[in-house]
Amino acid sequence: MSARSRRDSVPSDDPRCRCGYPLDRFWPFCPDCGRPQSWRDTPPDAGDQCPSCGWAISPKFLRCPWCATMVYDEKLSAKKPLKAPKGYRMDAKCDWGCGGGVQYPMPFCPWCGRPQSWNEDDRFEGECAHCTRGVDDWMDNCPWCGHDATGRDLIPKALVQVRQLLRVAGVADWGYRILLRPGVSGVDPRYPKVVEIEKRYVTGVRRRDEIPWSMLIGLISHELGHSFLYHHWHWTSTRAFQRTFGEASKAYRINDDAWVDFQRRRVAITPVDHVSGYAARHPQEDFAETFRYYVTRRGRLRELFAELGQRRKGAAVYEKFILLKDYIQSLREWR
Ligand SMILES: [Zn+2]
Ligand SMILES: [Zn+2]
Ligand SMILES: [Zn+2]
Ligand SMILES: [Zn+2]
Ligand SMILES: [Zn+2]
Repeated sequence: MSARSRRDSVPSDDPRCRCGYPLDRFWPFCPDCGRPQSWRDTPPDAGDQCPSCGWAISPKFLRCPWCATMVYDEKLSAKKPLKAPKGYRMDAKCDWGCGGGVQYPMPFCPWCGRPQSWNEDDRFEGECAHCTRGVDDWMDNCPWCGHDATGRDLIPKALVQVRQLLRVAGVADWGYRILLRPGVSGVDPRYPKVVEIEKRYVTGVRRRDEIPWSMLIGLISHELGHSFLYHHWHWTSTRAFQRTFGEASKAYRINDDAWVDFQRRRVAITPVDHVSGYAARHPQEDFAETFRYYVTRRGRLRELFAELGQRRKGAAVYEKFILLKDYIQSLREWR
């Protein structure tokens, strides 16, 4: 038996990519290595293969549910839309009401050929920034469209700059993972390293070249501040932290950071004891805002303090920056 035929005879309930990664049946791409996949009728089950894409189909189908090519055969095809021919399940009715059944994750109806949408909220952690289908946070490649599942390819310059800013500010990489996602910007404390940035700010309403640069850098830096704090959460229970920022664990609605607040480059005059208006909302926002200014000013406290002086900031604000700098320094020494 040749290597090829052995690979082809892998049982369909444990499909794997050539890279070895386990796949869900009918994923067009491997989420780990990005290789395109082909789901042939092996072992023979459904009874036919699409002449165009080569994927398994039922001889009863009128259209290929994977590529929408017409596969109608006068002798074999069903005379009217069926619920589920042999080898297929009916997971839902066709979105367009043609009367036929569709099986997850078919992108097209095998009867009328029209595109189908699937609610994948319970199956995946997020949505691909490119095709909006479900993806998990760890996936580098979208199993549906094959593009970068993190969406980071849409903001490469901003990510390079943020990485440089962190390095210059002396903040060691704590393993954060930035994901461009529809919905809200924020960090879930249960997944401290996953930093979600609202995709709408990057694509969509504004053209890419029109996004205020400072906004995107500011937003990412702010969210990284949340991630940094969740990652170093034990620090929030120290006396020094609580005296300076307050009780970080006090009741707080899940953060839904609005981008407008992070456009501002200069330190605000009010409120006196917080670096920005947004910072006054909650100790966690206070920290994230302090972190944002610290990072975007490259950790240069002398310049930052001159600005705080001009803006007549209270002593509390200086203390926050000093505490942050000391902590970042202590992390470096410890390493
Ligand atoms: Zn693979
Ligand atoms: Zn096809
Ligand atoms: Zn249909
Ligand atoms: Zn995609
Ligand atoms: Zn925030």
